[in-house]
Amino acid sequence: MNTRVHLKPGAVCADPYFVMEVPRLTEYRYAWFEVARGCSYSKAYARCPACGGAVGSLMWQPPYDVVLKQARRVGDFVGGFGGPELLVSTRFSDLYRRARLTGIARWLPVTVRMLGARVPKANEAPSLLGVYFSRRLVRADWSKMGVKWLTRPKVGYCRVCGPGGGGRNGCYSSIERIAIDPKTLGHAGDMFQAMNLHGEVLVSARARQLIEDSGLENAHFIRLTDARCSFFE
Ligand SMILES: [Zn+2]
Repeated sequence: MNTRVHLKPGAVCADPYFVMEVPRLTEYRYAWFEVARGCSYSKAYARCPACGGAVGSLMWQPPYDVVLKQARRVGDFVGGFGGPELLVSTRFSDLYRRARLTGIARWLPVTVRMLGARVPKANEAPSLLGVYFSRRLVRADWSKMGVKWLTRPKVGYCRVCGPGGGGRNGCYSSIERIAIDPKTLGHAGDMFQAMNLHGEVLVSARARQLIEDSGLENAHFIRLTDARCSFFE
């Protein structure tokens, strides 16, 4: 169960970084996506510079076709399954470029099909882009995260992409919070994934403020200290 505490938009907070969460299976208000059948992936995933292990998702190959489910209302951020790490609106990509935000490694043009009994006929498919986030040399400090391990990291785990992440780096069942090693924060941009914390998109306070001030829809921001996560409760 995920017990994260979403910040209310505009909440003042001195934390320099936040987890950005975009609902997928728990979505009930906004559309979410699935990739079209028959899609393929290359193995050109991001790799750890120290051990060469995978630190990112497999790269989605063309055609970049997605199906929006429950498509009556489409947010500026659309979570889903397969394909890119996230879909974003052109409103967001305009903001990203205008504000010179950093941290998105790849932008993919996608073709959108909409499904759902309540999709208004006049509602044309929105213009969305698939994105992959940068893997920065920022590292989570697992010694401060209240971690419970399902399988503990083995002696000799990679000191760059581990611990965490599976295999010899160990697999966690829950964390109480996210902590970032301050010595590595010089590598952080505005949006990124830590080298040893796959799946969590972290954003700067500036990026969060710009997104909220622009009224972009369907992203929640969580303090790192509130980013509790458990896979088995
Ligand atoms: Zn590694």
